Parts: sequence; C-alpha cells; structure tokens
Amino acid sequence: MTSILPMDSVRETARILSNARKVVILTHIAPDGDAMGSSLGLMHYLQSLGSAASVSIIVPTLYPDFLAWMPQADTVVVYEKDAALSNHLLQDADAVICTDFNEPKRIGGLGGCLLAVLQTRHTPCILIDHHLHPADFADVVFSYPESPSSCELVYRLICDLSQLAGYPLFNRPLNLPAATCLYTGMMTDTGNFSFNSNRADMYEIVSGLVRVGVNKDAVYNSVFNAWSADRMRLVGYCLYKKMIIIPEYHAALIFLTRKELYRFNFRSGDAEGIVNMPLQIRDICYSCFMREDKVMPADIPFAGGSRRKVKISMRSQGDRPVNEFCHSVFNGGGHMNASGGEFYGPIEQAVELFMQNYAKFFLKE
Ligand code: 5GP
Ligand code: MN
Repeated sequence: MTSILPMDSVRETARILSNARKVVILTHIAPDGDAMGSSLGLMHYLQSLGSAASVSIIVPTLYPDFLAWMPQADTVVVYEKDAALSNHLLQDADAVICTDFNEPKRIGGLGGCLLAVLQTRHTPCILIDHHLHPADFADVVFSYPESPSSCELVYRLICDLSQLAGYPLFNRPLNLPAATCLYTGMMTDTGNFSFNSNRADMYEIVSGLVRVGVNKDAVYNSVFNAWSADRMRLVGYCLYKKMIIIPEYHAALIFLTRKELYRFNFRSGDAEGIVNMPLQIRDICYSCFMREDKVMPADIPFAGGSRRKVKISMRSQGDRPVNEFCHSVFNGGGHMNASGGEFYGPIEQAVELFMQNYAKFFLKE
C-alpha cells in the first residue's frame, strides 16, 4: 500500500500519541458506520499497543441499534446522556482525535467544550476526515475529501504509524476488532461499495482487512439485515404515502413529522437510507428527506428562539451537486452527491423553503 499521508503529519501524530496518557476520540452527531468505525477502529488499535494510555470515545448523540454489535460500542460515552462525564473526560485528555467531521458545529454541544479545552489547555488535537472545508481547529489535519470514508484514512494512518522508524510503540499489526470496525465504515459510507467505490486501492485495503480475519458477510448482515418491523413499516409508509415527485426537475421529497415518527416507534437510525430510495426510480436524480427532530440543549445557540428542528438529508446522482443547495437553503453542506442541513422552525416551513428554491439549484435536463 503506497502511503498518501504526509510523513511529517504522521510523525507528529506519533509524537502526540506516544506522549499521551489519556486519549479522547470524538466523532459527529448521529454517528453512522464510518463515524463509529473510525473511532472504534482507532481505539482498538491504540489499546493493542500495550502502552499505559487510556482511550475513550465520546459521541454527541446515541449511535443506531444496528451498530450496537460493534466491538466495544457499549463503552462509548454519549454526551446527550452524560454531559458531566463527557466534559470531564475531554478536560482531562492529553490528546484529542476528531474523526469523520470537519467543523466543531458537527459535534453539537460538545463543539463548545472542545474549543474551550483546545484554547485553555492547549490539548493537542488530530483531525482525520473526508469532508470538504475543514475548519481550522486541529494541530494535525488529515483531510481528504476524495477519500470514500474516514475509516480508510484511519487504516492508512495505522499502516504508516506501524512502519514509522523511531516509534517501535506503534509497530503492531492491525487486530481483528480494529479491522472489523474499519471495514464497517468503508462498507457503509460507500453503500456496500455501490458509490464512491471505483478506486482500486480501496479493494487492496478490503483485501488486507479480510486477510486479518474480517468476516465481511457477517458485517453486512449485522448492519443491513437487522431491521425492526416498525422500521420496515415506516419505510413502506414513506414510499406509499409521503413521496412527492417533481418530474420536471427529476426530484423527490419525503418529509416526516414528529407525530408520524412516534406512530412508528421511531428510533435512532430508523431513517437511515430512506433518502437514497427515490434514486432507484428511473429519471429521479435528486432526493430530499426531512424529519422533525428534538431540539437538544446543545443546539440552543444555533436554534435561536425555536423549539422545533428539522433535519434535512439530500442525495443526488452524477453531475448534480446538492451541497450548494444545502449550504444556501439549510445552513448545511456536505459532499457533492450526499449533503445535509438543518432548519429551526416548523417542518411545513422547511418544505416551503425547499419548494421555493429547488428550481434555482436543480438541473431540468
Ligand atoms: P446525512 O444525510 O447522512 O445525514 O449526511 C450526509 C452528509 O451531509 C454528511 O456526511 C455530511 O457531510 C453532510 N451533512 C449532513 N448534515 C449536515 C449539516 O447539518 N451541516 C453540514 N455542514 N453538513 C451536513
Ligand atoms: Mn464518513
């Protein structure tokens, strides 16, 4: 595997981590497979080094049920459940690693704590991410928007660290739990290798992970074939009752109110993938999914006076960016074909905003 990470950044990472006794790993709100995989993969690797360092992972909000099987997922600290412990761990850390997010806003209320810790305690911070436009808050930045997943970047970093001269501490092969976690994120962020998945070196990494012992069929089953009946019914309801098609612009919109979510006993992760479904319709190239969400205390600075929040997800195909739309209309952003944003107010207003703006951004042909 040819190395793509800058050697001085790898060396600086080795220096920071070899001096740290308490490492904290942070990842984004509503953690997905790549967020959990990159954090847990790193943790399993660091724990295998035999150093005295303790490693903790803090996530802003709970991970979905279909990721609960991941090795040591149950040790992850959830900020929305235990803010005091999260703050304590962060303040006490002597190195922070941020994975799979590009700006402090993406970790909700933890963002404020992180910035305060970095400013007041000068805790060294390493960012490993594949989103555009990383904010300037970390000391070492591995930012590769062209990388399909953060897990792939973590794999590359671990490879480089394990071969680094002068740091025998890191000279360990990847263990099976770490490999399984990294494979999970590579799989989920490419839709089981169905998009962002044309680079040959990605399969070299998959091959390396399978060689370590990853059971990729079992990972697929754990993640994708683990639905509740309520989740299946929610998807059926969305497609049958709630999908609005705008044929001239090749677009589809689905939105769900809190009342509808409640009816289907909505749990974190149940909406995962709904936004992708309309793209399976011939001639649909843009898809938007909106759902009402709770306003967390962590969101209050962003929420203004509103008690209501709408989470927006968008997907598109080919040369049809949705990140510009999300940025301009919903104060968000993301990748060209997968973006998101937020709206503070009633969902009907968010739908209205969508309807007023799509023609300015979407291609007719
Ligand atoms: P998802 O639709 O899976 O929640 O998010 C898809 C992608 O859109 C994420 O990987 C992230 O890059 C981006 N994204 C989602 N929500 C937001 C948001 O509120 N703000 C920004 N800047 N990006 C977002
Ligand atoms: Mn990711």
